[in-house]
Amino acid sequence: MSTGVFSAAELRRSGFDDSDVRKEVRVGSLIRLRAGWYAIPTADPAAMHAVRMGGALGCVSALRWHGLWIAPGYEGVHVRFSKHGKHTRRPGCQGYGAQAPVATAVDPVASALKYAAKCMSAEDWITACDSALNKARQTVSGLQDEMGPIPKKMHLLMEKCDRNSQSGTESLTRLRLRAAGFKVITQPPIPDVGRVDLRVGRLLIECDSKDHHTSLADYQNDRRRDRAALRGGWLTMRITYDDVLYGWDGVLDDVRAITRPDRHRIRR
Ligand SMILES: [Zn+2]
Repeated sequence: MSTGVFSAAELRRSGFDDSDVRKEVRVGSLIRLRAGWYAIPTADPAAMHAVRMGGALGCVSALRWHGLWIAPGYEGVHVRFSKHGKHTRRPGCQGYGAQAPVATAVDPVASALKYAAKCMSAEDWITACDSALNKARQTVSGLQDEMGPIPKKMHLLMEKCDRNSQSGTESLTRLRLRAAGFKVITQPPIPDVGRVDLRVGRLLIECDSKDHHTSLADYQNDRRRDRAALRGGWLTMRITYDDVLYGWDGVLDDVRAITRPDRHRIRR
């Protein structure tokens, strides 16, 4: 996958010398964005914008470009400037660590996370880390090796990461329930049911992601799992993207009510 934005060095590595590049610009198949940076006409608009400003697509925007799960609310273009670029006092994201030169139009995941740690809420950032770990099938220490030196604050947040999380909604639900004092088991294997997203006591919680298109087979399998769970004495709660992002208080109330120790006495 490419943004369609290239540095002169990248073009040279692909076999385009300076006169080739000039020719491509003349015929319109390459657009010159700024000194040493070019784009094809169908290039990613956000990457073009970042490079035109003198930086790279970084931080949250880079994480989104890499296909990670990002909570809503970070829609603007996040630009990362190099140390050199910062002298011009352009606004940009302020990350942790030394500011590396801009070598590619989009920052790699590990360095984008070091910037996003200052732009995102702690909860949303851990969720983005979960997504990075899950997508790359990577461990926390492997990701930290790629990040290089990071502050204690980031280390502490990463202790709350879970690379087995299947979706952002699952990560947010886990983090919020634990913050509310619940003991949450992630991805427990349930006899006759299989793995579920989360478990709090006898309550099994399944988090549906926004882009989860239910096929007939999935639909039928979910109903079979629900029956098997009930038969095993479990309760199943299915929560949606909108429930987690826009109706969390209601979800938390329900989990509290369902898991209250004296629930059975109240129902007598
Ligand atoms: Zn940012």
